Amino acid sequence: MEPLEVRDVTVRFAGLTALDGVSFTVAPGTVHAVIGPNGAGKSTCFNVLSGVYKATSGSVRFGGAELTTLRPHRIAALGVARTFQNIALSPRLPVHDNLMLGRHRLTSSGFVSAGLRLPRARREQRRHVARVAEIAEFVGLTGKLAFPVGLLPYGVQKRVELARALCMEPRLLLLDEPVAGMNSGERQEMAELILSVRDSLGISIVLVEHDMGMVMRLADRVTVLDFGRRIADGTPAEVQADPAVIGAYLGT
Ligand code: ADP
Ligand code: MG
Repeated sequence: MEPLEVRDVTVRFAGLTALDGVSFTVAPGTVHAVIGPNGAGKSTCFNVLSGVYKATSGSVRFGGAELTTLRPHRIAALGVARTFQNIALSPRLPVHDNLMLGRHRLTSSGFVSAGLRLPRARREQRRHVARVAEIAEFVGLTGKLAFPVGLLPYGVQKRVELARALCMEPRLLLLDEPVAGMNSGERQEMAELILSVRDSLGISIVLVEHDMGMVMRLADRVTVLDFGRRIADGTPAEVQADPAVIGAYLGT
Protein backbone atom coordinates (compact mmCIF):
# COMPACT_ATOMS: atom_id res chain seq x y z
CA MET A 1 0.00 0.00 0.00
CA GLU A 2 1.53 3.26 -1.11
CA PRO A 3 0.46 6.90 -1.03
CA LEU A 4 -0.29 9.09 -4.02
CA GLU A 5 2.04 12.08 -3.87
CA VAL A 6 1.18 15.17 -5.89
CA ARG A 7 4.05 17.68 -5.74
CA ASP A 8 4.00 21.23 -7.05
CA VAL A 9 1.91 20.43 -10.12
CA THR A 10 1.33 23.27 -12.59
CA VAL A 11 -0.83 23.03 -15.72
CA ARG A 12 -0.86 25.93 -18.17
CA PHE A 13 -3.13 26.24 -21.15
CA ALA A 14 -2.69 29.08 -23.64
CA GLY A 15 -2.81 32.15 -21.41
CA LEU A 16 -4.38 30.37 -18.44
CA THR A 17 -2.89 28.62 -15.41
CA ALA A 18 -5.43 25.94 -14.53
CA LEU A 19 -3.27 24.47 -11.72
CA ASP A 20 -0.60 26.49 -9.98
CA GLY A 21 1.93 24.55 -7.89
CA VAL A 22 -0.59 22.20 -6.28
CA SER A 23 0.61 19.59 -3.77
CA PHE A 24 -1.24 17.00 -1.69
CA THR A 25 -0.76 13.45 -0.43
CA VAL A 26 -3.41 10.73 -0.44
CA ALA A 27 -2.69 8.26 2.36
CA PRO A 28 -3.29 4.57 1.54
CA GLY A 29 -6.83 3.34 2.21
CA THR A 30 -8.31 6.82 2.65
CA VAL A 31 -10.87 8.99 0.87
CA HIS A 32 -9.28 12.30 -0.18
CA ALA A 33 -11.62 14.99 -1.51
CA VAL A 34 -10.55 17.72 -3.93
CA ILE A 35 -13.07 20.56 -3.76
CA GLY A 36 -13.39 24.14 -4.93
CA PRO A 37 -15.65 26.52 -6.86
CA ASN A 38 -16.31 26.11 -10.58
CA GLY A 39 -13.17 26.55 -12.64
CA ALA A 40 -10.90 25.93 -9.62
CA GLY A 41 -8.98 23.19 -11.44
CA LYS A 42 -10.55 20.02 -10.02
CA SER A 43 -11.16 18.27 -13.34
CA THR A 44 -7.75 19.40 -14.59
CA CYS A 45 -6.23 17.79 -11.51
CA PHE A 46 -8.05 14.53 -12.32
CA ASN A 47 -6.93 14.69 -15.90
CA VAL A 48 -3.32 15.03 -14.78
CA LEU A 49 -3.62 12.10 -12.35
CA SER A 50 -5.08 9.87 -15.09
CA GLY A 51 -2.64 11.05 -17.78
CA VAL A 52 -5.22 12.77 -19.98
CA TYR A 53 -3.50 16.14 -19.48
CA LYS A 54 0.24 16.59 -19.26
CA ALA A 55 1.50 18.68 -16.34
CA THR A 56 3.58 21.68 -17.39
CA SER A 57 5.75 21.00 -14.31
CA GLY A 58 5.67 19.09 -11.04
CA SER A 59 5.44 15.43 -10.15
CA VAL A 60 2.84 12.78 -9.34
CA ARG A 61 4.19 9.61 -7.73
CA PHE A 62 2.30 6.37 -7.15
CA GLY A 63 3.43 2.78 -6.78
CA GLY A 64 7.08 3.68 -7.33
CA ALA A 65 6.28 5.33 -10.67
CA GLU A 66 6.27 8.91 -11.91
CA LEU A 67 2.82 9.29 -13.48
CA THR A 68 3.35 12.63 -15.23
CA THR A 69 5.42 11.01 -17.98
CA LEU A 70 2.99 8.12 -18.61
CA ARG A 71 0.11 7.75 -21.04
CA PRO A 72 -3.39 7.00 -19.68
CA HIS A 73 -3.31 3.27 -20.44
CA ARG A 74 0.03 2.87 -18.60
CA ILE A 75 -1.37 4.71 -15.57
CA ALA A 76 -4.45 2.46 -15.66
CA ALA A 77 -2.15 -0.56 -15.80
CA LEU A 78 -0.52 0.65 -12.56
CA GLY A 79 -3.90 0.33 -10.87
CA VAL A 80 -5.32 3.84 -11.17
CA ALA A 81 -8.95 3.74 -12.37
CA ARG A 82 -11.29 6.65 -12.92
CA THR A 83 -14.92 7.46 -13.55
CA PHE A 84 -16.06 10.45 -15.56
CA GLN A 85 -18.28 13.38 -14.61
CA ASN A 86 -20.54 12.46 -17.51
CA ILE A 87 -21.31 8.80 -17.83
CA ALA A 88 -19.08 7.05 -20.36
CA LEU A 89 -20.68 3.64 -20.66
CA SER A 90 -21.96 1.84 -23.76
CA PRO A 91 -25.73 2.37 -23.30
CA ARG A 92 -26.90 -0.34 -25.70
CA LEU A 93 -24.76 -3.05 -24.14
CA PRO A 94 -25.93 -5.03 -21.11
CA VAL A 95 -24.39 -4.22 -17.72
CA HIS A 96 -22.44 -7.46 -17.92
CA ASP A 97 -20.71 -6.52 -21.18
CA ASN A 98 -19.87 -3.05 -19.88
CA LEU A 99 -18.20 -4.64 -16.87
CA MET A 100 -16.32 -7.14 -19.03
CA LEU A 101 -14.94 -4.20 -21.03
CA GLY A 102 -13.66 -2.82 -17.71
CA ARG A 103 -11.52 -5.96 -17.37
CA HIS A 104 -9.86 -5.43 -20.70
CA ARG A 105 -6.57 -4.16 -19.31
CA LEU A 106 -6.22 -7.35 -17.25
CA THR A 107 -6.61 -9.62 -20.24
CA SER A 108 -3.43 -11.10 -21.65
CA SER A 109 -5.04 -12.97 -24.52
CA GLY A 110 -7.43 -10.18 -25.58
CA PHE A 111 -10.80 -11.86 -25.10
CA VAL A 112 -12.65 -9.38 -27.26
CA SER A 113 -10.84 -10.31 -30.45
CA ALA A 114 -9.02 -13.57 -29.75
CA GLY A 115 -10.62 -16.90 -30.58
CA LEU A 116 -12.39 -18.29 -27.55
CA ARG A 117 -11.59 -21.74 -28.89
CA LEU A 118 -8.19 -21.57 -27.27
CA PRO A 119 -8.47 -23.32 -23.87
CA ARG A 120 -6.38 -20.67 -22.14
CA ALA A 121 -8.57 -17.86 -23.46
CA ARG A 122 -11.67 -19.75 -22.40
CA ARG A 123 -10.35 -20.31 -18.87
CA GLU A 124 -9.43 -16.65 -18.62
CA GLN A 125 -12.88 -15.68 -19.86
CA ARG A 126 -14.52 -17.83 -17.16
CA ARG A 127 -12.40 -16.17 -14.47
CA HIS A 128 -13.42 -12.73 -15.70
CA VAL A 129 -17.12 -13.70 -15.75
CA ALA A 130 -16.85 -14.98 -12.17
CA ARG A 131 -15.10 -11.82 -10.96
CA VAL A 132 -17.62 -9.60 -12.75
CA ALA A 133 -20.38 -11.46 -10.89
CA GLU A 134 -18.61 -10.82 -7.54
CA ILE A 135 -18.17 -7.12 -8.26
CA ALA A 136 -21.78 -6.83 -9.45
CA GLU A 137 -22.87 -8.33 -6.15
CA PHE A 138 -20.63 -5.95 -4.19
CA VAL A 139 -22.24 -2.89 -5.80
CA GLY A 140 -25.77 -4.38 -5.78
CA LEU A 141 -26.16 -4.99 -9.51
CA THR A 142 -26.67 -8.76 -9.51
CA GLY A 143 -30.24 -8.60 -10.81
CA LYS A 144 -29.34 -6.06 -13.48
CA LEU A 145 -26.52 -7.78 -15.40
CA ALA A 146 -28.63 -8.56 -18.49
CA PHE A 147 -30.17 -5.06 -18.80
CA PRO A 148 -28.88 -2.59 -21.39
CA VAL A 149 -27.25 0.17 -19.34
CA GLY A 150 -29.16 2.92 -21.14
CA LEU A 151 -32.50 1.57 -19.89
CA LEU A 152 -31.52 1.70 -16.20
CA PRO A 153 -32.28 4.61 -13.86
CA TYR A 154 -29.49 7.21 -13.63
CA GLY A 155 -28.45 6.27 -10.10
CA VAL A 156 -28.05 2.63 -11.14
CA GLN A 157 -26.01 3.67 -14.19
CA LYS A 158 -23.61 5.51 -11.88
CA ARG A 159 -23.20 2.30 -9.89
CA VAL A 160 -22.42 0.46 -13.12
CA GLU A 161 -19.75 3.05 -13.78
CA LEU A 162 -18.23 2.49 -10.35
CA ALA A 163 -18.42 -1.28 -10.87
CA ARG A 164 -16.65 -0.94 -14.19
CA ALA A 165 -13.81 0.96 -12.54
CA LEU A 166 -13.62 -1.76 -9.85
CA CYS A 167 -13.37 -4.37 -12.59
CA MET A 168 -9.91 -2.95 -13.33
CA GLU A 169 -8.85 -4.09 -9.81
CA PRO A 170 -7.57 -0.61 -8.97
CA ARG A 171 -5.44 0.35 -5.98
CA LEU A 172 -6.45 3.98 -6.46
CA LEU A 173 -9.87 5.08 -7.65
CA LEU A 174 -10.55 8.57 -9.03
CA LEU A 175 -14.23 9.57 -8.73
CA ASP A 176 -15.38 12.73 -10.49
CA GLU A 177 -18.63 13.93 -8.86
CA PRO A 178 -20.04 10.45 -8.19
CA VAL A 179 -23.38 11.71 -6.79
CA ALA A 180 -24.01 14.55 -9.28
CA GLY A 181 -27.61 14.48 -10.53
CA MET A 182 -28.73 11.87 -8.00
CA ASN A 183 -31.76 12.03 -5.74
CA SER A 184 -31.18 11.84 -2.00
CA GLY A 185 -31.82 8.10 -1.74
CA GLU A 186 -29.33 7.40 -4.53
CA ARG A 187 -26.81 9.71 -2.85
CA GLN A 188 -27.01 7.81 0.41
CA GLU A 189 -26.55 4.49 -1.39
CA MET A 190 -23.56 5.77 -3.32
CA ALA A 191 -22.00 7.24 -0.16
CA GLU A 192 -22.26 3.89 1.61
CA LEU A 193 -20.84 2.14 -1.41
CA ILE A 194 -17.83 4.48 -1.56
CA LEU A 195 -17.11 3.91 2.12
CA SER A 196 -17.32 0.15 1.64
CA VAL A 197 -14.91 0.35 -1.32
CA ARG A 198 -12.46 2.01 1.07
CA ASP A 199 -13.15 -0.22 4.08
CA SER A 200 -13.84 -3.64 2.52
CA LEU A 201 -11.59 -3.45 -0.52
CA GLY A 202 -8.92 -1.16 0.97
CA ILE A 203 -8.82 0.99 -2.15
CA SER A 204 -7.65 4.62 -1.87
CA ILE A 205 -10.08 7.12 -3.36
CA VAL A 206 -9.65 10.64 -4.73
CA LEU A 207 -13.04 12.30 -4.92
CA VAL A 208 -14.02 15.50 -6.72
CA GLU A 209 -17.35 16.58 -5.26
CA HIS A 210 -19.58 19.65 -5.16
CA ASP A 211 -21.99 18.39 -2.52
CA MET A 212 -20.40 19.63 0.69
CA GLY A 213 -22.48 17.34 2.92
CA MET A 214 -21.12 14.41 0.95
CA VAL A 215 -17.52 15.63 1.31
CA MET A 216 -17.92 16.06 5.06
CA ARG A 217 -19.39 12.60 5.36
CA LEU A 218 -16.97 10.72 3.12
CA ALA A 219 -13.60 12.41 3.17
CA ASP A 220 -10.76 11.61 5.55
CA ARG A 221 -8.90 14.62 4.22
CA VAL A 222 -9.73 17.53 1.92
CA THR A 223 -7.69 19.71 -0.45
CA VAL A 224 -9.40 22.96 -1.44
CA LEU A 225 -8.54 24.63 -4.77
CA ASP A 226 -9.45 28.12 -5.93
CA PHE A 227 -8.28 29.61 -9.24
CA GLY A 228 -5.81 26.74 -9.61
CA ARG A 229 -4.16 27.28 -6.23
CA ARG A 230 -4.37 25.16 -3.11
CA ILE A 231 -5.96 27.40 -0.50
CA ALA A 232 -6.47 24.81 2.26
CA ASP A 233 -5.71 21.21 3.16
CA GLY A 234 -6.89 19.34 6.23
CA THR A 235 -9.67 17.33 7.79
CA PRO A 236 -13.23 18.15 6.69
CA ALA A 237 -13.83 20.01 9.96
CA GLU A 238 -10.61 22.05 9.57
CA VAL A 239 -11.26 23.18 6.00
CA GLN A 240 -14.93 23.89 6.68
CA ALA A 241 -13.89 26.38 9.39
CA ASP A 242 -11.08 27.94 7.32
CA PRO A 243 -11.79 31.62 6.50
CA ALA A 244 -10.02 31.31 3.11
CA VAL A 245 -12.34 28.44 2.16
CA ILE A 246 -15.45 30.25 3.34
CA GLY A 247 -14.32 33.30 1.36
CA ALA A 248 -13.72 31.30 -1.81
CA TYR A 249 -17.17 29.73 -1.66
CA LEU A 250 -18.87 33.03 -0.97
CA GLY A 251 -16.87 34.67 -3.76
CA THR A 252 -15.23 37.27 -1.53
P1 ADP B 1 -13.26 22.61 -12.25
O1 ADP B 1 -13.31 21.17 -12.60
O2 ADP B 1 -12.74 22.88 -10.87
O3 ADP B 1 -14.56 23.32 -12.47
P2 ADP B 1 -11.43 22.78 -14.50
O4 ADP B 1 -10.26 21.99 -14.10
O5 ADP B 1 -12.41 22.14 -15.43
O6 ADP B 1 -12.19 23.33 -13.20
O7 ADP B 1 -10.95 24.12 -15.18
C1 ADP B 1 -9.96 24.98 -14.62
C2 ADP B 1 -9.65 26.08 -15.61
O8 ADP B 1 -8.92 25.50 -16.71
C3 ADP B 1 -10.87 26.71 -16.21
O9 ADP B 1 -10.62 28.09 -16.38
C4 ADP B 1 -11.02 26.00 -17.53
O10 ADP B 1 -11.68 26.83 -18.47
C5 ADP B 1 -9.58 25.75 -17.93
N1 ADP B 1 -9.42 24.54 -18.77
C6 ADP B 1 -9.70 23.26 -18.40
N2 ADP B 1 -9.40 22.42 -19.40
C7 ADP B 1 -8.90 23.19 -20.43
C8 ADP B 1 -8.39 22.92 -21.73
N3 ADP B 1 -8.34 21.66 -22.20
N4 ADP B 1 -7.99 23.96 -22.49
C9 ADP B 1 -8.04 25.22 -22.01
N5 ADP B 1 -8.49 25.55 -20.79
C10 ADP B 1 -8.92 24.56 -20.00
MG1 MG C 1 -14.98 19.90 -13.23
